[in-house]
Amino acid sequence: MRKFQKQQAGLACPVLSGHFNQMQKLNEIEELIKIISKLPGLGPKSAKRIILKIISNKEDILKPMANTLNATYKNITRCSLCGSLKSAEICKNCNTSKGKKNKICVVENIADQWSIESSGIFDGYFHVLGGTIGTTTVSKKNLLLDSLLEKVDKEKIEEVIIALSASVEGQTTAYYIKDILKHTNVKISRLGQGLPVGGEIESLDDGTLFSAFKNRTGLNSDSD
Ligand SMILES: [Zn+2]
Repeated sequence: MRKFQKQQAGLACPVLSGHFNQMQKLNEIEELIKIISKLPGLGPKSAKRIILKIISNKEDILKPMANTLNATYKNITRCSLCGSLKSAEICKNCNTSKGKKNKICVVENIADQWSIESSGIFDGYFHVLGGTIGTTTVSKKNLLLDSLLEKVDKEKIEEVIIALSASVEGQTTAYYIKDILKHTNVKISRLGQGLPVGGEIESLDDGTLFSAFKNRTGLNSDSD
């Protein structure tokens, strides 16, 4: 009851008091609520709160947000070689001119890449699979493993570190990648102790990530 009263008080915000009663009739707002409700962790109520905040700050939030979303839609795409995100034609992850170490860290998704990047523990290239084998929505072709193999050959990569979660899908994918790379001389390793079973890479703290990288184990000598 208290929560309900609080929400009512929030909706009676003076800036929007005139708008809210008409809200259900505004197609744009209803469409926005539908879209925002699809975001992770947000239901219709949270979506409404966010939208009220946005539309009551038209110049400060709505306008730059609309422009930035438009630019993001136009410019940001998945790199067809490494699977990371790139702006326009430039893929910073594929760029070889930055003195990166000759190592590739294979992750499941962009959030994992960002976690590892922000921990500062790895300064090589990333390969973002966009899923794992066993995930029904992802085809093997979308994992871009042909271009991973090509990069290992061309860039004289010394080590491929497989940083996938310790789930069945993660392990199946790790052995599939090992198989793809078996004709190269590249060292293949995967994150070691400290990685919780089934734990998502993106949710690990920096200390756990550091430990998992430090204790990574070789995959090359494992039997098929
Ligand atoms: Zn790239």
